[in-house]
Amino acid sequence: MDKLIKSIATSGFFRAYVLDSTETVKEAQEKHQTLSSSTVALGRTLIANQILAANQKGDSKVTVKVIGDSSFGHIISVADTKGNIKGYIQNPGVDVKKTATNEIIVGPFMGKGQFVVITDYGTGSPYTSSTPLISGEIGEDLAYYLTESEQTPSAVGLNVLLDDKDKVQVAGGFMLQVLPGAPDEEIARYENRIQKMPAISALLEADQPIDALLKAIYGEESYKILSQENWHFACDCSRERFEAALKTLGQVELQQMKEEDHGAEITCQFCGQKYQFNEKDLEEMIHDKAQ
Ligand SMILES: [Zn+2]
Repeated sequence: MDKLIKSIATSGFFRAYVLDSTETVKEAQEKHQTLSSSTVALGRTLIANQILAANQKGDSKVTVKVIGDSSFGHIISVADTKGNIKGYIQNPGVDVKKTATNEIIVGPFMGKGQFVVITDYGTGSPYTSSTPLISGEIGEDLAYYLTESEQTPSAVGLNVLLDDKDKVQVAGGFMLQVLPGAPDEEIARYENRIQKMPAISALLEADQPIDALLKAIYGEESYKILSQENWHFACDCSRERFEAALKTLGQVELQQMKEEDHGAEITCQFCGQKYQFNEKDLEEMIHDKAQ
């Protein structure tokens, strides 16, 4: 089970989330069989979505769409405020590394586009907000979104590290926000620390990544932990849901599926689960429609 920890400086002027998202991103990689660059891009989007969902109160749902114009296509992820997240990337097969360093390349394959956030408070009218992609590296795009769209100056660091077989080794990150009324001197101290912070990948490689992240953010300043949330990859798809979707098709289309394809198979985009409907299932749907 992954965790997200919410903390606040004792001064009350800075707050930070730190996350270990390793299991979530591992699960996503297994379900979608993503190659290196696609794994990192999808993983970073999932972490960004966890941060945005943790920022919501009550029972709501947050969708993140990273809509680029390059090889990855779209990356879509949905999280709720109970610690469930699911997501997929249109092109799971992008696998590009720098020859000299083996560093995985992400930004250029996202390309230009939008970082879109849809918040559904369960009222039936979701709220959509978006900002342009700054680098396509996701972390910077989220920081820009939070600063511009939510008017809260934010620093974000997030990443996914792969082992030598390109499997997820560790994933996680942080978000740091300045709260209203922070004294200039205190802002300068935090800015200075963030600038000198070790690379996020070095922090994630520590024995205790959560502690390493907190230490890098707060340095010697005192802070307190407000809460801890557990997170995991979970899809809410079901046979019933896809059956309902099939039933919205016309009688003629269902008849065609029955006669020509002898059934229907639907794959859930978010988790890869396959659902089969045989001729008899389709026949029942056609029969129900006729009545
Ligand atoms: Zn599913």
